[in-house]
Amino acid sequence: MADARLPRVSASLDSGLPRPSQTTLRQVLAELRGPGTAPRALDARALAALAANPGCRRRALLDGAGVDKAALASKLGSPAPFGQSQFAIMRGNSFEAKVKADGGRELLRLLGVEEPGAVSVPDLAAAGPQGRTARTALALREATAAGAWTLLDHPLLALEVAGAPVYLEPDAVVVGPDGRWTVVEIKSFPMIDGSADASKVGAAARQSAVYVLALERVAAVTEGAQVAHSVVLVCPKDFSNAPTASVVDVRKQRSVTRRQLARLTRIEEIADAVPEGVTFDVAGCSAAELTEAVETVPHAYAPECLTACELAFHCRARAREAGAVETLGRAVRGELGGLTTVGAVLAAARGEAGDPDDPAVAALRRARALRQEALDGAAVRDEARGPRVEAPACH
Ligand code: SF4
Repeated sequence: MADARLPRVSASLDSGLPRPSQTTLRQVLAELRGPGTAPRALDARALAALAANPGCRRRALLDGAGVDKAALASKLGSPAPFGQSQFAIMRGNSFEAKVKADGGRELLRLLGVEEPGAVSVPDLAAAGPQGRTARTALALREATAAGAWTLLDHPLLALEVAGAPVYLEPDAVVVGPDGRWTVVEIKSFPMIDGSADASKVGAAARQSAVYVLALERVAAVTEGAQVAHSVVLVCPKDFSNAPTASVVDVRKQRSVTRRQLARLTRIEEIADAVPEGVTFDVAGCSAAELTEAVETVPHAYAPECLTACELAFHCRARAREAGAVETLGRAVRGELGGLTTVGAVLAAARGEAGDPDDPAVAALRRARALRQEALDGAAVRDEARGPRVEAPACH
């Protein structure tokens, strides 16, 4: 692996040492990503997943460095278990265009505004993410001051996550004449008889909550602005391609995500602990080098990763190899207290190890005794019934 890294600067705020400038952090992250590799933007879906597993340093660093985790997982030999087909992406894009048709009037009709008057749809084009974010903030300020309906189509918002800026792009934000900003999420899963798949609605709510948090940063410096804590979810109605809207309260998701994001370890602190010369350059490193590099950053596997992170199969295999009880789920992990491996759990259950006064050990031994009792009872019943008569085989 080529060592093109700059010497690291200890960066933890908590360490009392000076923080590196954003430029230094950007350089460190660029080296981790690999020379000439464009950073992969984090979207709100990824951020919501990151917030759902704040203890995973591996994901925080890879996301912070903008590493393409799907490409990394493929090169590691454990491709991501999910993703959208090209057909699904095209269908989603055409549905979104239909929702935003007629200069935003169609969308406002879905929100229950039959006569919106003139609807403004400002041009949000600008150079680079910083330029687009600034353009969005300006458009939000102008729309709030104008006191008329405005549709911001794919605005760009920024949120600081673990010390690094993350850019987020909601499908739309509607600004009302009263200065209220409402996030609109357009999804291609159907809403049948007024309700949709609860897990998909939950994921959309967590994603929208991230947008709400990012919008609140802009609203805090915009006079007369207020961010709605209910978002509008637009989906195809029943089995047709006609759009229908539903209001989703995201207050709970907003506070959970805010709390979890605040718990994330600072990216520079994680990067600082990675040995010199390590890089996640998917194009320039072999599978063996990448495996070694990934192992230098601790993970926090949980079965929930299977639906949220591209590296799930890789981390699950590592957790299984280590016999980690995390593979059994967070609830089981919590119940087992200090027993961290499957081997330790079995040894404790068999009475070969563990403190008998530990409630987890006592519960395991009791469970094993009950299992043995049930097996013995079944064996006695089988014996009393006599030998089994095999049914004649069918020909
Ligand atoms: S799959 Fe691995 S890297 Fe991704 S969140 Fe889970 S433990 Fe972290």
